[in-house]
Amino acid sequence: MKIDGKTRVCGLIGNPVEHTLSPLIHNTLADRMGHSLVYVPFPVGTGRVADAVAGADALGILGLNVTVPYKSEVTAYLKEIDPLARDIGAVNTLVRTDGGYKGYNTDMEGLYRAMQSEGLTIRGERIILLGAGGAARAVAYLCAVKGADRVYMLNRTLSKAEEVAAEVNGRVGRQVIVPMHTGDYTMIPDGKYLAIQGTSVGLAPNADDVVIADDAFYAKVHTGFDLIYSPWETKFMRLARASGAKAYNGLKMLLYQGVIAYELWNGVYISDEDALAVYETLCKQIGQA
Ligand code: NAP
Repeated sequence: MKIDGKTRVCGLIGNPVEHTLSPLIHNTLADRMGHSLVYVPFPVGTGRVADAVAGADALGILGLNVTVPYKSEVTAYLKEIDPLARDIGAVNTLVRTDGGYKGYNTDMEGLYRAMQSEGLTIRGERIILLGAGGAARAVAYLCAVKGADRVYMLNRTLSKAEEVAAEVNGRVGRQVIVPMHTGDYTMIPDGKYLAIQGTSVGLAPNADDVVIADDAFYAKVHTGFDLIYSPWETKFMRLARASGAKAYNGLKMLLYQGVIAYELWNGVYISDEDALAVYETLCKQIGQA
């Protein structure tokens, strides 16, 4: 890509950012779309988020992604926050507007598009959600908003699941999220569930870890969806497949949260064909071509 006086800059703020795949997503999209745009990771030290946002604004940076540990902290420095991101309590995308940045959360919609691209539905589904951290919270909102029948939210720290459930149930006006301690999984009613793994357990290099290892749990799962994409096949996915379930990792979620951010920054729509071409590039990059 030729960089000239009209080239726009987007980037990622977080700490650490060295291993991010986001530059590959956005720079590949810019190439395919013929946009003069470059995307760079910016490591931001503790206590420097306000400076980073103000500096980006001063430099005319078109958009930023925000990653760990700043998805909540950054909200204090924005001109405006999209209502969905406010509900979720986390912002992962900033769009430059007159007078400051507007914050969005594209993780939730990214997961939804990823699920749709695999033919998975939420409406009417009975769902087991492992975790109650930042990502699981967005998943709980997604499931509630998109009409899940029931979501059993299992977490090591029960109080966190109770907090998320109270908030989401209050927001949608029905008792859709049922908080439980992870150890109580045998109390989930019989049936077949979509199980979404939203904890950080099993993330490389701890690929042999899994929140629940009991085969009886996986017998209740028709589809396992892990938000983790490194390793390519998590132990959660392995156990789900061994019991006859389908299983997916989180790489398409990562892809689509990026695609949606790119759409917001550039006011364009990215076709599935373009998104899937970027997905192939991502797979090659991580040795899964
Ligand atoms: P987080 O806010 O730190 O939450 C971590 C969650 O994992 C909490 O529910 C925590 O339980 C649980 N947990 C951690 N260690 C545990 C252990 N030893 N035993 C049982 N539970 C444990 O993290 P997050 O931002 O939600 O991210 C969670 C995962 O999602 C990460 O692996 C991340 O890579 C992935 N993710 C993927 C995408 C994507 O695009 N594919 C996007 C966002 C996140 P407690 O509440 O009890 O501590």
